[in-house]
Amino acid sequence: MATRLDGRQLAAELEQRLQTVIAERLERAGRPPGLAVLRVGDDPASGVYVANKEKACTRIGVTNHGAHLPAATPPAEVLEAIQRLNADPMVDGILLQLPLPAGLDEAPLLAAIDPEKDADGLHTLNLGRLLKGEPGPRSCTPAGVMALLAHAGIELAGKRAVVVGRSILVGQPMALMLQAANATVSVAHSRTRDLSALTREADVLVVAAGRPRMVGAEHVKPGAVVVDVGIHRLDPDPAAGPGAKARLCGDVRYEEVEPIASAITPVPGGVGPMTVTLLLVNTVASWCRRCGLDEPLADLLP
Ligand code: NDP
Repeated sequence: MATRLDGRQLAAELEQRLQTVIAERLERAGRPPGLAVLRVGDDPASGVYVANKEKACTRIGVTNHGAHLPAATPPAEVLEAIQRLNADPMVDGILLQLPLPAGLDEAPLLAAIDPEKDADGLHTLNLGRLLKGEPGPRSCTPAGVMALLAHAGIELAGKRAVVVGRSILVGQPMALMLQAANATVSVAHSRTRDLSALTREADVLVVAAGRPRMVGAEHVKPGAVVVDVGIHRLDPDPAAGPGAKARLCGDVRYEEVEPIASAITPVPGGVGPMTVTLLLVNTVASWCRRCGLDEPLADLLP
């Protein structure tokens, strides 16, 4: 039976660590860390995500400087809001919640965020820093995966790692982080031939394809570590009757893979909770830097 890599539990432990980091440095800093989650429009799923991030801030002592702009806000005004947050000395992290309403181009807006305040770690400069092994904010989801692997004591040096997916959000930075940890990494994508032959070579398999239940037992070498980044909302089970809740699943057929893997992340409760925690890690690390304090979170920013 595989070890369950419990993201919920590790996220709670890391929140406690962040709380301590903040409490011990608050007096020297003279102000609490600040995160601004900027939301434009009314995408319903975004509402839930933003609320989760704001609650997490409150739990650990990060001040929330968020703003919610109407869907019809012109691009120049969204840009101005970002520039105001860039200039605000109380704000250490800025996050532009995606997706944006139709008519707003995300690329120039994301590029306008001060790279030192880039809570998502996705600014071009910070992706470059990751590539070069320089310190800086890191992409939250892959950094969360690295924290889960490290916490479980999974050695990566010399291991074969396969990442399924090559997005800028997950797959690419994931591959760079695994490589920086001295794994030998292959990246698969939609044009990869004979995916299962490649994934069966993996000692560590990270799946971020965005395809519900795509990866099964035939893709996994016995004893491999399997990380499922995918998250999908399925319609409620009709057998569960009226009022049943939507179900979540990942990119991996958990019930098939769990008996042959050595460790596996569940969905929900695996990678998802770690993503929010790493947003806080980036923000608190930025606060430490900006206030001239020590850098106590470097182990979480691979
Ligand atoms: P994208 O759709 O941007 O990228 C998916 C990648 O998977 C692409 O590179 C694509 O290849 C590849 N792919 C698609 N189909 C296949 C296939 N059949 N075989 C091999 N590769 C394939 O998705 P994201 O990276 O943004 O997200 C991936 C998943 O992770 C989604 O389910 C998303 O919801 C989830 N997610 C979860 C987070 C969390 O906190 N748990 C955070 C972020 C994302 P190609 O490049 O050729 O198109």
